[in-house]
Amino acid sequence: MVKIALQIKATLENIEELQTCHPHYAFFVRIKCTNCGEVSDKWHDITEGERVNEDTRNPKGFNFYMKCRMCFRENSIDIVEGSNVSYMADDSGKMKTIVAFDCRGVELIQFSPRTGWIARASENGTTFEDVDLSKDDWVEYDQKNNTSLGVYEFESHFIKIKK
Ligand code: ZN
Repeated sequence: MVKIALQIKATLENIEELQTCHPHYAFFVRIKCTNCGEVSDKWHDITEGERVNEDTRNPKGFNFYMKCRMCFRENSIDIVEGSNVSYMADDSGKMKTIVAFDCRGVELIQFSPRTGWIARASENGTTFEDVDLSKDDWVEYDQKNNTSLGVYEFESHFIKIKK
């Protein structure tokens, strides 16, 4: 089993905290089978609050399960419980791990942020739900504090965590 962390980086403007709406947030990822090297051509979603493929061998199921279409190996992924953290104003412009995955037989190679983010404005400003980062930039106006808000230059990558 390999533990893989998702790191993100963004420039935050007047935002105190940016986080996913976990455990309901769907992490869209592209996956590589470590047995045969097959890379999935479509996006797969992993949600901590959802479990699939429960059976007698594994009554708790997995957050994600897939049989590789090339080598037919059974691969699965679970989000590491309690690994979700927020991206804060102090993290702006820096790479930070926001979640970790236990990967069995697969590697994660690409992330697509999409929708389901929550942004809390600075100075007790408004909290915006269902923020859409699919264009890598998000701009809003906080009428409570009369300030413009933004998430800019969103970037992400996966890193292997050594145990
Ligand atoms: Zn395979």
